[in-house]
Amino acid sequence: MYDVVIVGGGPAGFTAAIYTARAKLKTLIIERAYFGGQMAITDQMENYPGFEAVSGMELANKMYGQATKFGAEVEMAEVVELDLYGDIKKVITREKTYEAKSVILAMGASPRKLGLPNEEKLVGAGISYCATCDGAFFRDKDVAVVGGGDTAAEDALYLARFCRKVYLIHRRDEMRATKILADLVVNTPKITPLWNSEVEEIIGENSLEAVKVRNNKTNEISKLDISGLFIAIGYIPNNELVKGKIDLNEWGYIKTDENMRTNIPGVFAAGDVREKTLRQVVTAASDGAIAAHSAEQYLTGREL
Ligand SMILES: Cc1cc2nc3c(=O)[nH]c(=O)nc-3n(C[C@H](O)[C@H](O)[C@H](O)COP(=O)(O)OP(=O)(O)OC[C@H]3O[C@@H](n4cnc5c(N)ncnc54)[C@H](O)[C@@H]3O)c2cc1C
Repeated sequence: MYDVVIVGGGPAGFTAAIYTARAKLKTLIIERAYFGGQMAITDQMENYPGFEAVSGMELANKMYGQATKFGAEVEMAEVVELDLYGDIKKVITREKTYEAKSVILAMGASPRKLGLPNEEKLVGAGISYCATCDGAFFRDKDVAVVGGGDTAAEDALYLARFCRKVYLIHRRDEMRATKILADLVVNTPKITPLWNSEVEEIIGENSLEAVKVRNNKTNEISKLDISGLFIAIGYIPNNELVKGKIDLNEWGYIKTDENMRTNIPGVFAAGDVREKTLRQVVTAASDGAIAAHSAEQYLTGREL
């Protein structure tokens, strides 16, 4: 029987484990793919405090080492089912069922993809799903943002601060973003909106060189020579395990209070999988620490 089982070995899960294991709670992290989550596929991070630049893999290894040093156990397996009601929770993988007094859900989220050839291959070599993370690598370069919502608008405005030119490629004839952001986008001289436009082809061998864009009204094709393509068409929370079992918001993110408590006693959520505004390593780590603290309070009957 574990005090805490953590589903997901990204920065939220590992930070939670560092805190719970250090508090002498018997802790298990279960990860299905690779330790570090999205962080592990991030080439360079320049916005994690204390590191001017660090590879996501290096930070993931440090978090892994720190959590296991304090006694957290780690298991490489996919959690396929959860039984979260009752005092004893069940966390089920294909091979085994783990029992826990509390569970921290830290399954993260995945960026929505365009689904085009070359997209996967050029991630980290010109293609990015996170302007806040990677934008600074494109200083004085020409880039494009795909999308029409608030994130796309914010990304375009952020990139316009230091990129030479920013195209905004949107399939409709106006943005879905809030009016204030949409107005800012169209009034920013460095941003060129391309309305009714969709990325048709991604061109580049070892790094992004250009994209072909099709106007969906006229079918006209144009080629944009760009070094960066920021895809901002949304994220998909990894919520398959808890759909229909726990309160989610309209976009499928787990609802929590500020102490990371879900609507089920003894079940907490942390990181990108939960409802929040900024999905970053530092905020995932922060959520993990708070979830761990709340789990400890719950286990000792001192819940806030
Ligand atoms: C390309 C890219 C670049 C980025 N760059 C930066 C950056 O520079 N700075 C920054 O701060 N942030 C960056 N981010 C965002 C940051 O990586 C995420 O916000 C952060 O990793 C979220 O942490 P998390 O622990 O909540 O989730 P994740 O990192 O998504 O980890 C969740 C983990 O849960 C596992 N999991 C899911 N379901 C199951 C299951 N059923 N069973 C077992 N395991 C499961 C997943 O395999 C995954 O490893 C970047 C993201 C991407 C994609």
